[in-house]
Amino acid sequence: MNKNMLEIGGVSVEQLAKSCQTPLYIYDEEKISTKLAQFHDLFQSDALETEVLYASKAFTCKALLELVKQHGLSLDVVSGGELYVAKQADFPMERVYFHGNNKSYEELQMALSYGIGTIVVDNAMECELLVQVAKQSGHSVKALLRVNPGVEAHTHKYIVTAHLDSKFGTSITHKEEIAHMVQTLSAIPNIHFEGFHSHIGSQIFDANAYVAEIQTLMKFVYELQEEYQIQTKALNLGGGFAAYYTAEDKPIPLSEVCSTILDTCSMEKERYQLPLCKVMIEPGRSIVAEAGSTLYRVGFTKQTANKKYVFVDGGMSDNIRPALYQAAYACDLANRMNEEKCEKVTIAGKCCESGDILIEDVMLPHAQRNDLLILYTTGAYGYSMASNYNRLGRPAVVFVKNGKARIVVKRESYEDMCMMECDELVHI
Ligand SMILES: *Cc1c(COP(=O)(O)O)cnc(C)c1O
Repeated sequence: MNKNMLEIGGVSVEQLAKSCQTPLYIYDEEKISTKLAQFHDLFQSDALETEVLYASKAFTCKALLELVKQHGLSLDVVSGGELYVAKQADFPMERVYFHGNNKSYEELQMALSYGIGTIVVDNAMECELLVQVAKQSGHSVKALLRVNPGVEAHTHKYIVTAHLDSKFGTSITHKEEIAHMVQTLSAIPNIHFEGFHSHIGSQIFDANAYVAEIQTLMKFVYELQEEYQIQTKALNLGGGFAAYYTAEDKPIPLSEVCSTILDTCSMEKERYQLPLCKVMIEPGRSIVAEAGSTLYRVGFTKQTANKKYVFVDGGMSDNIRPALYQAAYACDLANRMNEEKCEKVTIAGKCCESGDILIEDVMLPHAQRNDLLILYTTGAYGYSMASNYNRLGRPAVVFVKNGKARIVVKRESYEDMCMMECDELVHI
């Protein structure tokens, strides 16, 4: 065994690179299972029914959904495509929630015909469309209404403002409009209005943001009951739980954030004497981020006037987050784990964009051509945001556990990328 070589799930990454090529998304299956089990076990309360939904936009494929299913979590999807994967994975449809601010007629129809459990309705026009689709299909479906509580969490800070211009949901200041939507939905026998949903941000480090969200929503629910006789049975508080990316990140322990949320819910339910009986959360990132890494092969290195570049065989096509929102990552040379980090370098991809930089200024051992570079915590919003920019095929995804590896998504080949091309006459 080579002590300088990183292992994940008992498998040497050199072996993975040889067998599966690079760039490669590697998931430590045990870590995903641990997070799923933690959320499931910690988000439990005596006072309220609870449900944890995995937000599948963070990363979805059949193998992952199999784990989510096994651990008894529910699922949220935001498009017909994500819903289709859930169906392919044989996910119990009554445990699927459909989000999104602009669902199409076809998507709603598809969801109802699949027997989906819940539609999270975004706006007044969607209410009308759902009523139309539900009448036609005759399927029974639950509905939550997405509201905007005006609490916004941006990583370490949260603010309570009357932020009225989010594209998601309806502001809780528009009570009459919301009451009207609830009445529209409730008028249809096969639509069952359950309550409200909100999602206040992502990579949230401060549990008080959730406290502010819950307090705001409970007051709103109480007022709606007093003014419009609307009874709220369920609240879905969204996701946003932070993950660890770099040494600067100190995520709130799950036990702490779960108990803070549940305690606040029970207290506020008591305070307003609400008939509320169920709370939900929907973590995405925090379940898969830390379990995933991306393995690259180092190609050329280049010294410029002020920088030393280390080029890798992927980049913004497999991970857009650094370019899109300056996301920070940590990395290692996976075949030089015990060597001194003596050089400050910038890790750049191979795409034709100057912004295609994965990490700016990071200390690494002296990098050589054909070394392996591992980027940590890429499990969320990495593969799911990957593209074919510059016609780079999307990487393969491999799950490792107990010294065994299995490919769960194949690498996209050149042929795959050309497969959709054709020259067909359009009949007009
Ligand atoms: C994205 C999203 C989530 C998950 O957010 P994370 O930050 O990945 O936990 C949950 N709910 C809704 C409605 C979302 O849009």
